[in-house]
Amino acid sequence: MLTTPLLAALAARHGPVDVVTTPAAAPLLETHPAVRRVVPYDKRGRDRGWGGLRALGRRLRAEGYERAYLPHRSLRTAALALLARIPERIGFHDGWPFFYTAVRPRPAEGHEVDRLLALAQEAAAAYAPSLHPTPDDERAAGAVLRAAGIEDGAPFVAVAPGSIWGSKRWPYFGELASRLAAQVAVVAVGGPDDAGLGEEIVRAVTDGNGRQRAVNVCGKLTLRQSAALIGRAQVLVTNDSAPLHVATAMGTPIVAVFGPTLPEFGFGPIRSGDVALGVAGLDCRPCSRHGPPRCPLGHHRCMRDLTPEVVAAAIEETGALRRRD
Ligand code: SF4
Repeated sequence: MLTTPLLAALAARHGPVDVVTTPAAAPLLETHPAVRRVVPYDKRGRDRGWGGLRALGRRLRAEGYERAYLPHRSLRTAALALLARIPERIGFHDGWPFFYTAVRPRPAEGHEVDRLLALAQEAAAAYAPSLHPTPDDERAAGAVLRAAGIEDGAPFVAVAPGSIWGSKRWPYFGELASRLAAQVAVVAVGGPDDAGLGEEIVRAVTDGNGRQRAVNVCGKLTLRQSAALIGRAQVLVTNDSAPLHVATAMGTPIVAVFGPTLPEFGFGPIRSGDVALGVAGLDCRPCSRHGPPRCPLGHHRCMRDLTPEVVAAAIEETGALRRRD
């Protein structure tokens, strides 16, 4: 998702581009106007091993590409461009410069979007992340919402409680949802692995009579359908995880909760008006680049000290609920 501005910049220069990416990411890019064709590279399945890489290299060679931009640091990526015999190979200095014909410095600072755009030597502000769900994706998102009693155009808050890294999961999504549910419907979004967290949110919101103002759609939608759903939300409340970037790409206001990581690492909200929350003055924070599986000190104060009241106030501050009521 954060590569889409680079793709747009390259498409403006050369015309729509072909992209080699994982099978999981392919559907997100195949509808992007900057993309002509997506080539899925299944390094753990069909294309695994050296044989798989060479076979893909042969397929790419047959296309006669003139130029490859290689934002990824991996040796595999660099070797693939070489195997495909692409004459111009442009990569970052911290990748495999020996394999490239042009080497660009990767900026140490700034948002990841801007750092990636440096590969094309493009101005940071010119291109923003974007995703493009199809009408079918929109219909699927609308159907899931209507099944939960949220009619087209009705306001709701999306919450994304998941993260692969346990220490990056804010523990109070349920409490926040039960506060919000008095005012607006709440929809828990995420992948199949987040379904349990989504259920906890629904349980926290269900009243004594079994009435619900929250619904769990984790694992029920594809990535593009999820993007369509997030695009309809008044605001997304999320950890430092992929849905944050989906909301950026869909133009949905964001309140993001950062625990063991910092927005300054380059993966925070980009737009002014979006909010990144974090506990200030905690000596142990940040404790890792990606967030450890669990708090090494056991207290997890970087998340536990961020109360539902603080997050609810931040939502209020965005004005998103008032604006779209
Ligand atoms: S060590 Fe500090 S920053 Fe790291 S998870 Fe624990 S509380 Fe958070």
